[in-house]
Amino acid sequence: MNSINHRMPVLFIGHGSPMIAIEESIFTKGFETIAKELPKPKAVVCISAHWETHGVFVTFMAHPRTIHDFGGFPCELYKLQYPAPGDPALAQEIRQLVHSVEVGEDYDWGLDHGCWSVLKYLFPLADVPVVELSIDYAKPASFHYALAKELLPLRKEDVMIIASGNIIHNLRAIDWPHIDTPNYGYDWAQKVHEEMIDKIVTGDHQYLIDDVGRNREYHLAIPTSEHYIPLLYALALQEQDDHLSIFNDSIVGGSLDMTSLMFS
Ligand code: ZN
Repeated sequence: MNSINHRMPVLFIGHGSPMIAIEESIFTKGFETIAKELPKPKAVVCISAHWETHGVFVTFMAHPRTIHDFGGFPCELYKLQYPAPGDPALAQEIRQLVHSVEVGEDYDWGLDHGCWSVLKYLFPLADVPVVELSIDYAKPASFHYALAKELLPLRKEDVMIIASGNIIHNLRAIDWPHIDTPNYGYDWAQKVHEEMIDKIVTGDHQYLIDDVGRNREYHLAIPTSEHYIPLLYALALQEQDDHLSIFNDSIVGGSLDMTSLMFS
């Protein structure tokens, strides 16, 4: 963390399967390792692949519920609760900060698994208030990148922004017997992965906004955009002198990229 500016880190987390919440793996170890480096923020703003809406909304409730937004998993996973408080004052501040679009107040959603399956490792005591910001599914990548830039002042207000998705996410192509095998990526996935990491490292955000989806490999890697868009939020919040840490850098099951990033 840049101690001169007291700027909070920004994270992009590859969350993968909901089972990550209850199964120990090299990836959960990666979360626990990064958690030790994190300062404790005043609050967290989470942008999760699993909250897509028409229009943009922010959670306004004082006590967001834990949403089990998946089917066919073990009971243990449905019993899991992440009782972090909300932060209506922060939600209101986000409404005021964002001018590119009217951000609506939400009292129905809560914390979905894209958010809590990760936060349970980063802040296991659930004692940091959390608000979620939704993803408007109708809008292009450039809209999300620009909106995220409007959140930049929050980094200097002790607020940690955590985006949760997967850089490469093709569930239909997954080789399930290898879902836990690290560094198991199809050739096309590996190629896209390497190209994207290169663009992230060199800061070529324009490529990641405009040119993703232009060839066959990218169509396979990102068949739908909801898990990719959170990456754009994290990139947009990168400051020039931020240090980039890449962790959990691995593809599993052929087509699921667990790679996570921290800008600090
Ligand atoms: Zn997901």
